[in-house]
Amino acid sequence: MTRRGARISSRDVPADRTTAGHRAVRGLPGGSGPGVRTRGRPVSGKPRPPRSPGEGGEPVAGAPLSTSIAGRRGRRTPPQPVTTRSRGYGTTFGEAGKRGGGGHEGCNTLVDVTTTSLDLYPVTRVADVRAATAAAGIDALLLTPGPDLRYVTGYDALPLERLTCLVVPAEGEPFLVVPRLELPAAEHSPAGRLGVEFVAWDETDDPFALVARRLGPVARVGLADRMWAMQSLRFRSALPGAEQVLAGSVLRGLRMRKSPAEVAALREAGAAIDAVHAQVPGLLKAGRTEREVGKDIAEAILAAGHATVDFVIVGSGPNSASPHHELSDRVIQAGDPVVVDIGGQMPSGYCSDSTRTYSVGEPPADFSAYYEVLRRAQEAACAAVRPGVTCEAVDAAAREIIADAGYGEHFIHRTGHGIGLETHEEPYIVAGNTEPLAPGFAFSVEPGIYLAGRHGARIEDIVVCTETGGARLNDRPRGLVEV
Ligand code: ZN
Ligand code: ZN
Ligand code: ZN
Repeated sequence: MTRRGARISSRDVPADRTTAGHRAVRGLPGGSGPGVRTRGRPVSGKPRPPRSPGEGGEPVAGAPLSTSIAGRRGRRTPPQPVTTRSRGYGTTFGEAGKRGGGGHEGCNTLVDVTTTSLDLYPVTRVADVRAATAAAGIDALLLTPGPDLRYVTGYDALPLERLTCLVVPAEGEPFLVVPRLELPAAEHSPAGRLGVEFVAWDETDDPFALVARRLGPVARVGLADRMWAMQSLRFRSALPGAEQVLAGSVLRGLRMRKSPAEVAALREAGAAIDAVHAQVPGLLKAGRTEREVGKDIAEAILAAGHATVDFVIVGSGPNSASPHHELSDRVIQAGDPVVVDIGGQMPSGYCSDSTRTYSVGEPPADFSAYYEVLRRAQEAACAAVRPGVTCEAVDAAAREIIADAGYGEHFIHRTGHGIGLETHEEPYIVAGNTEPLAPGFAFSVEPGIYLAGRHGARIEDIVVCTETGGARLNDRPRGLVEV
């Protein structure tokens, strides 16, 4: 359960690249909420697009492109494995990590993952994507900065008004169109290892016409799901005969099925957010405001190794009954249930998202009555996870228990959402989604019960579907934590 506003980040963003301005998590220092406070540590914002679903389509295993890519490697640096030994939360993933400035010395070592950027963003992926594009009957994918481009190349490019676009034709060689001033950053990103041609354009060039010229006649193009409208409309003009569809129709099948390296990255993100939840009981006190607690949590999210804070929900007392409440100046009182739903993005690009419900002192009796129902429902939905079970069956496993106990009308949202490079992505764990789970699917299981105006509760873990069942990536106790 997240509401994505803007994000705060530990990254530095050059002045020329902040066209959308520095922003911060809503209600936190630098954000738009009332009572803005001075920051405890400097954080600079990298504007991020909001996150939401892609569109249908199936993965297609395809003819490898690597041989034709290899032929072009002469003018590029050949792919080199960049191995990073992760200590604690300070994982960096090759070039992406360097740019993200990932190190967090002094953190406790709670995870120790060895991974490589080549594992996480393999150079063969662009070939898989090209084959899937051809199989979907699409002539080319046009991937502007965002999670689709990062998934395919590892390049965490900034979304800007100047066009950066990876063009993946169904037939022919992929190429990356970049503004000339972005060329050094692009070449030093993981995209520099792919062996694809970089086509730099100058300030007075028309990059949309350039793409159209190189692409030739096309009937159907797949646009990155998060391409800006200003760019999709320019492409419509530059490629007037081409039907525009979502690149997600090609990429969803690939992105849903996480590789072992992606699961390891999600596991690392889960451990990092668990370490933040472990600190929450010490931060929640009667007399503090939600915003004060939220500011401390945001700092802890960065200190635990995240590159950005995506969202901080601290819903106390009646605010706990509003699933997407974020922060307010409400003073936390004795006897308040408090829903704390938090997450961020790791330097790897992969996201965390976990909710626990706390109680400041002894909670109201009617709250305790349903909290146990919720705990059983969350457990049942996690236990239902295995290959072949549909997304809607996982939702039903939680919903039945809550409905049978008489709280059905108070469970007002779907049970979960996929997670990866985006906090909310496919698959959605919701009635009507008959997609069967497969090994590598990663998603939240987060039922909630909300008595409007009084109080509410939610428990959220990230679960990965394995060959035989499900594995939770969050380990904090799920019983009500009285602080
Ligand atoms: Zn949400
Ligand atoms: Zn959440
Ligand atoms: Zn969630």
